[in-house]
Amino acid sequence: MSSSASATIPASRFGYATRLSCRECGQTCELGAHHACAECFGPLEVGYDYPSLTRESIESGPPSIWRYASLLPVPADVASRPNTEPGFTRLVRADRLASALGMRALWVKDERGNPTHSFKDRVVAVALAAALEMGHKVLACPSTGNLANAVAAAAARAGIRSVVLIPANLEPQKIIATAVYGGTMVLVDGTYDDVNRLASQLADDREDWAFVNVNVRPYYAEGSKTIGFEIAEQLGWRLPQQIVVPVASGAQLVKIDKAFRELAALGLVDAAPYRVFGAQASGCAPVAAAFRAGHDVVQPVRPDTIAKSLAIGNPADGPYVLDVTRRSGGAVADVSDDEIVSAIELLATTEGIFGETAVGVTLATTRKLLDSGQLDPDAETVIINSGDGLKTLDAVAGSVPTAGPIRPTLQAFIDFESSVPPRKAVA
Ligand SMILES: *Cc1c(COP(=O)(O)O)cnc(C)c1O
Ligand SMILES: [Zn+2]
Repeated sequence: MSSSASATIPASRFGYATRLSCRECGQTCELGAHHACAECFGPLEVGYDYPSLTRESIESGPPSIWRYASLLPVPADVASRPNTEPGFTRLVRADRLASALGMRALWVKDERGNPTHSFKDRVVAVALAAALEMGHKVLACPSTGNLANAVAAAAARAGIRSVVLIPANLEPQKIIATAVYGGTMVLVDGTYDDVNRLASQLADDREDWAFVNVNVRPYYAEGSKTIGFEIAEQLGWRLPQQIVVPVASGAQLVKIDKAFRELAALGLVDAAPYRVFGAQASGCAPVAAAFRAGHDVVQPVRPDTIAKSLAIGNPADGPYVLDVTRRSGGAVADVSDDEIVSAIELLATTEGIFGETAVGVTLATTRKLLDSGQLDPDAETVIINSGDGLKTLDAVAGSVPTAGPIRPTLQAFIDFESSVPPRKAVA
């Protein structure tokens, strides 16, 4: 760890980040637009010479991810950072949900509060900051939906071009909520994994394009650490005992674990043990299947689930999710589309929080892991609500009752009330 005082402004264009290192063989290289190891093609990870930080210095920062800028690969100079301000979303104490589940202490990290209503604004802001430092001119991505929203919005705000590639069968809300920001949106006839392959080819062809989750992926992925930092700060500088995280590529889960370890290493929280759990939809559960089978490698699948934001059949961080969940004493499990829908309703009816299909996956998995005894109902637990239910309306449209219009008379209301019983929270 470096001994530089937190007041010194480092010259580095990437703050306190000093290198990229291979997650497989440990080979290091200099910061730049590389995403695979030159020796073994393994994925690269950002390394730092951390400054000394105090809780007070972080608390005096802005109410956004930039309060943790010293722990991200972004310019130390505020004026050189993008002007998007995601993060510092609410950590909601969920007592009614906890009692429906028989739990003692439960919180929901509610990512709907971000500029485009999902956690993807965090990763895009960090990728954009790094991409601008590296001289990229276009912000691009392959996406399962939410990333497209975040890239198109951040590029609009930065005044640069965006190019997003998405599977043609995405939710209409996510398509419209991308197109509205301008930029180039391409609907591709194929799965996300097909779209991702096309993006990789394009990234090799267009050198000044920053594909946030492809050629600038090491920087992008670091943005997910900010969820972990915030949870610890919002719990009063403590780590939760259990956390349940949705898994698509797996980067979010792996980086929340990295954030918790960094905070402990920097002395900002006590190094208490915590367990990390991953959640997938049964229609796309390659990591849960590998966990159950005791495998270290993840066998790709062809996705078929209503949880489209998590529909990555060949997840880049799959092996690292297995590593984090096993090492921490957690697990990865999966749930059916019906369980996803009833969990969305459970969260809405107990806490007034309408999350997207991804939170249906996370909450239904939480329930399943409680039933199987893998989650401890007495331990302090955080679950992630990674996106907004307004973007996946069709998932619940068929199961929530919307009774037809009545005549505008008192009698019509009385008749209506006696024919339709008030809805109870679904447990
Ligand atoms: C992308 C996404 C995830 C998962 O992110 P990964 O880091 O790829 O695992 C979870 N929830 C929502 C709503 C998302 O859009
Ligand atoms: Zn390597």
